[in-house]
Amino acid sequence: MTCKGIDGETRVVGVIGWPVRHSLSPPMHNAAFEVLGLNWVYVPFAVAPDQVAATVQAVRALDLVGLNVTIPHKLAVLPLLDEVSAEARALGAVNTIINDEGTLRGRNTDGEGFLRSLREIGGDVSGRRVALIGAGGSARAVALAAAKAHVEQLTIINRTLEKAEVVAEMVRAAQPGAPVEVLGLEAKEAERAVREAQVVIDSTAVGMYPHHETAPVIPVEWLHREQTVCDLTYNPRETVLLSAAKAVGARTLDGTGMLVHQGALALEYWTGKKAPVEVMREALLAGLAKRSAG
Ligand code: NAP
Repeated sequence: MTCKGIDGETRVVGVIGWPVRHSLSPPMHNAAFEVLGLNWVYVPFAVAPDQVAATVQAVRALDLVGLNVTIPHKLAVLPLLDEVSAEARALGAVNTIINDEGTLRGRNTDGEGFLRSLREIGGDVSGRRVALIGAGGSARAVALAAAKAHVEQLTIINRTLEKAEVVAEMVRAAQPGAPVEVLGLEAKEAERAVREAQVVIDSTAVGMYPHHETAPVIPVEWLHREQTVCDLTYNPRETVLLSAAKAVGARTLDGTGMLVHQGALALEYWTGKKAPVEVMREALLAGLAKRSAG
């Protein structure tokens, strides 16, 4: 760790969360700034919930480049910004703030980040049947992005049906006519929906370290080789679900791709430059490995 390069012209960008010490964004963005030759630094800011408004004001006062916003502040920053993209407004969640000469613009890069990561492995949701397991924060972003990308059918399957309905309503309001349906996890039709899906996305935290040996939410027997199976969990990279999907010959995608690409998109908004995705991925994976070793 060195701050040798910091001088009077260094620009600052960072991430706010509570807590924030586990964020992998600082190494990812700092590695990118270095290869882009930018005299910028990315730092974590632990911001208590009652300090969010003061923090947003400080972006202007300190002329920060912008911020990433993580849990639990994604909703709280929304009314404090000058402009919020339609997508972030529909999601009720901002994960990126861009300081455009004092005008603060809010965006959400999670959904597009997921789509980019899927395209990177040759996958797509456009014109496909998609089964989305889970209805939490990450599911909202993925569901809306999938609807905007014109899925053939989006089936949201969740343990708590009412929560899936809330996500479906949000999608329909933002994308009228979107082909979205909801099912409870225990519904008889859930098996059919998963088997018929070309893309299966698990957005639950089930399978996440330290509970990485827990059985997936859906029976792995429902998976087959014609599918692309995605797990948004990134620790571990190969969850029980993905390992079963690989075993039947399905194409698989772990959560690190979405994490890298949501960051890459944010970086592109701040810098106007193409993100060095491989450099960011390498830094992220190194950070994850360090965390596992610790
Ligand atoms: P969240 O808002 O807490 O939602 C969790 C979802 O999982 C809910 O739908 C919940 O169902 C379901 N769930 C939890 N335990 C379950 C169980 N035992 N059986 C069945 N369903 C269960 O979580 P989130 O923020 O969306 O995050 C979910 C996962 O995505 C985490 O692993 C997180 O690390 C990952 N994530 C990855 C990225 C990325 O960039 N790769 C970004 C965000 C999140 P109920 O509604 O019934 O409670």
